[in-house]
Amino acid sequence: MLTYENWTEPNQDFEVDETYKGALNVLKSVYDEYGEQIVYACSFGIEGIIMIDLISKVKEDAKIVFLDTDLHFKETYELIDKVKEKYPLLDIELKKPKLTLEEQAAEHGDKLWEREPNKCCNIRKIIPLNEALQGATAWISGLRREQSESRKHTNFINKDEKFKSIKICPLIHWTWKDVWRYAHKHSLPYNVLHDNGYPSIGCEPCTNPAFNADDMRSGRWTGQMKTECGLHQ
Ligand code: SF4
Repeated sequence: MLTYENWTEPNQDFEVDETYKGALNVLKSVYDEYGEQIVYACSFGIEGIIMIDLISKVKEDAKIVFLDTDLHFKETYELIDKVKEKYPLLDIELKKPKLTLEEQAAEHGDKLWEREPNKCCNIRKIIPLNEALQGATAWISGLRREQSESRKHTNFINKDEKFKSIKICPLIHWTWKDVWRYAHKHSLPYNVLHDNGYPSIGCEPCTNPAFNADDMRSGRWTGQMKTECGLHQ
């Protein structure tokens, strides 16, 4: 089994078929290889919904983790309820940070995300994901190459230095059109904020509608130097 510790460049030569762009082939292969030792960290954006639908075809009781920062839009929580109803066998965990929002405000001051967003993401996302990945050898992410400059060179199978793990990215070849074509064709539930100008949806205080069609993540941390929460750096 390929692990972070014994990493050698893996075969990335999965057939990129017309319908799934390789995603289903990758998922079949990695669930075969890692079984219970793989976790999908889902943000419940539209890519997350596609991934859940594909994963459910391969492993109907797969483990899925949502990093519940306590700061998500109510529409995101509503979507999670719908997904749980549609895929009742999936093992979906809402992983909370150690600090409640009140405890975070008491320790680090109010609205940490406005002053030190990296520290806030570390407390509410990075540390919880690190905990969720304990005991897992690999994790899945819905990154697509088209999403941003920094994601252009993502492979199906990646060595993840940040979490000392293997990161699997089955959707790298999917375009925005592919994603929506699939979602509509299969009548998948999705976050209604996508219909209101939010292509990328994270925590409410750090997400705005995106007005730059060439950068679909431009609504995240608008006006700050920050472009990623740190999970993918
Ligand atoms: Fe905090 Fe914003 Fe990061 Fe959410 S996205 S954890 S609110 S800094």
